[in-house]
Amino acid sequence: MNSPADYHMHTPLCRHATGEPVAYAAHAVARGLTEIGFSDHSPMRRNDFDDWRMRFDQLDEYVGKVRQAQRDFPALTIRLALEVDYLPGQEEWISELAARHPWDYFIGSVHYVSGGWDIDNPAKLSRWSERDAFEVWAEYFDWLTQAAASGLFEIIGHADLPKKFGFRPVRDCTPLFERFLAAAASSGAAIELNTAGLRKDCREIYPSRPLLELARTHGVAITFGSDAHKPEEVAMNFAEALALARDAGFLHTARFERRQRHLVAF
Ligand SMILES: [Zn+2]
Ligand SMILES: [Zn+2]
Repeated sequence: MNSPADYHMHTPLCRHATGEPVAYAAHAVARGLTEIGFSDHSPMRRNDFDDWRMRFDQLDEYVGKVRQAQRDFPALTIRLALEVDYLPGQEEWISELAARHPWDYFIGSVHYVSGGWDIDNPAKLSRWSERDAFEVWAEYFDWLTQAAASGLFEIIGHADLPKKFGFRPVRDCTPLFERFLAAAASSGAAIELNTAGLRKDCREIYPSRPLLELARTHGVAITFGSDAHKPEEVAMNFAEALALARDAGFLHTARFERRQRHLVAF
């Protein structure tokens, strides 16, 4: 079996991950992977935006670390990417970032909803009890749909992130998923199977099986990512992710080089 590429990995530059890219690459080789991609949290225009991403003046250092891993592991394909926060109004900044280096792909992620609330931040867990879960999910998916429609991203990250701490709406979210996936289908953005959800309170891969099955019917492609924040997490739970993808009817995974997509069987 050909292991899928792990396209979601971080570095210490984001201030909440450990291990240099060379250490992640060594783990990838040990696990039999042939391709990985680094996608650390992108800088914002303002370095004081929050405290869980690289500063803008560290972007070249980030690229240097990934290039070092490429030199040290010539038999492993290592892609250069970013996990970019999507917030409405950030489009110009994201285009500026895109022009700075020959990226292989951008993962577009929504972590923030209005009011400057990063919904996956454990330090802000209490805010969930102040808001109606469906309202939060609806706002999140509204921004995620804008991200998917923007054409700025090859991949949309952890599509149902609001489930992280287990705050799930009673109301049916299918219409939110449908609108998001229609946008992804029309722009050609893939979605990722992100195994980090298995390590969170929700104990479930992002996205859920129903969302994944809808993605297939919409013709949206998939990638795989561990969202590793330490080297030991590279390709973690990929066997489960592969089984889920197959169950949902997928036969191919997307790979990216210089922002061009091709599909490979898995
Ligand atoms: Zn992170
Ligand atoms: Zn993320």
